[in-house]
Amino acid sequence: MISVKSTADLAKMRASGKIAGGALKLVGEKIKPGMTTMQVNNLVHDYIVKHGAKPSFLNYGGFPASCCVSVNEEIIHGIPTSKRILKEGDIVSVDVGAFKDGFHSDTCMTFPVGNISEEAQKLLDVTQASLYAAIDIVKAGVRLGDVSHTVQEYCESRGYGVVKKYCGHGVGRQLHEDPEVPNYGVPGHGSRLVSGMTIAIEPMINVKGEGCKVLGNGWTVVTTSGSLSAHFEHTVAVTSEGAVILTLP
Ligand code: MG
Repeated sequence: MISVKSTADLAKMRASGKIAGGALKLVGEKIKPGMTTMQVNNLVHDYIVKHGAKPSFLNYGGFPASCCVSVNEEIIHGIPTSKRILKEGDIVSVDVGAFKDGFHSDTCMTFPVGNISEEAQKLLDVTQASLYAAIDIVKAGVRLGDVSHTVQEYCESRGYGVVKKYCGHGVGRQLHEDPEVPNYGVPGHGSRLVSGMTIAIEPMINVKGEGCKVLGNGWTVVTTSGSLSAHFEHTVAVTSEGAVILTLP
């Protein structure tokens, strides 16, 4: 069932989204070669707690950390560890959720570590641009298939692989609510967006192919090709005028 949020609910989601977005902003300022993925996790954890929220991902379905930190060919659900040291040229997706006053928000960015290759930079640019292209068309009355197709078309027309096994979702009192928001779809199909819906749009884009598999730890999803993957996500509210991004810092 799709839940529609009241103005008061949306204000609470904006408050939790601001914290999640602020945690990512901090990561962007601090991330550098030599840092471990656990240090990234700790930055996020401390920021969220300091601002009076709870990390949504901690213990979610048994996930053992406060955010997902996925490096290079890791698409999503990378588990932070003090053994993984970031090096110059890596790209790192940091997926963060914050829970405050009864509402979750969910956001992700892929960060460059020091200087990165042209291939990696282009992947980040295209993935982020596909997210904003999708956000741009969000508005009450628009169909979900149009939002999904926007991401797919933007990335596939540029030669990138769109991960289809995992998708965006409604978000609010629960971290994952209806509807599913795939990164592929048919224009003119799917349910219509309604004012007050809150959805997480999250393109997961590979340099080569859409194939993915889960590692032996049961969590981390990697590209089957071994190619780089990027992930950008915002939680947005649907209005009659367009989308309001709730996870800006
Ligand atoms: Mg999400």
